[in-house]
Amino acid sequence: MRPIIGIATQTLEAIPGELPACWIMGQSYVQALRSVGAIPWIIPLLPDDEATLREIFERLDAVFLTGGVDVDPSRYGEAKQPCCGRTDPPRDAVEIQLIRWAIEAGKPILAVCRGIQVLNVALGGSLYQDVPSQLPNAIKHDYFPTRENPSRNRLVHSIEVQAGTRLAAALGESRPIVNSMHHQAIKCIAPGLITSAVAPDGVIEAVEGANGRYIVGVQWHPEELISQPGQKQLFASFVAAAQSR
Ligand code: MN
Repeated sequence: MRPIIGIATQTLEAIPGELPACWIMGQSYVQALRSVGAIPWIIPLLPDDEATLREIFERLDAVFLTGGVDVDPSRYGEAKQPCCGRTDPPRDAVEIQLIRWAIEAGKPILAVCRGIQVLNVALGGSLYQDVPSQLPNAIKHDYFPTRENPSRNRLVHSIEVQAGTRLAAALGESRPIVNSMHHQAIKCIAPGLITSAVAPDGVIEAVEGANGRYIVGVQWHPEELISQPGQKQLFASFVAAAQSR
């Protein structure tokens, strides 16, 4: 039996008044998990139906958290600043619930980009609402694709990986160069997490669980770098942890 990995979706207001709202998920995440042997399971956003969400959760072996819009700052006790982007409150609610249940049940968690941010918030940490304006000495992290340069796998900055971490074991390098498509970042790291990689400016680029369980978050997009053995191994190690439960 291949392990089932749950992936919460995001809301897409197709064309209000014309086409119904959708719950969607980017294909590269699903393909990355499938490529290392997981059964990807796309989860609808049902924050008001905890019983259904719980039944879905019970069938999962692990939880995967993807990139997407900003976590609502109310989730970490801040007012939303103009520099904060669009939010998806139903997604925040469902992902935070799944994270808490996964931690209670000891189910592995892998979190990417927005995923590391919502993981940190779910466990009591906070975020920079906008790195360029709130951390003016930071390097550029917001290499969002444009029509002229649509690349999502552009390698733009190094990270310093903490020796002895799950991340170090998966990547097999201490200072790899990664892609970077984020304008937010962890501000205060949550209790229960440790920093496992930082960018040259000190911005937290990866965290993991302090208790030894498989809880790994990365700020870059490994699903776009899956042709690199170390980045693929990150997914493989997660699916192996889900399999061995
Ligand atoms: Mn970055």
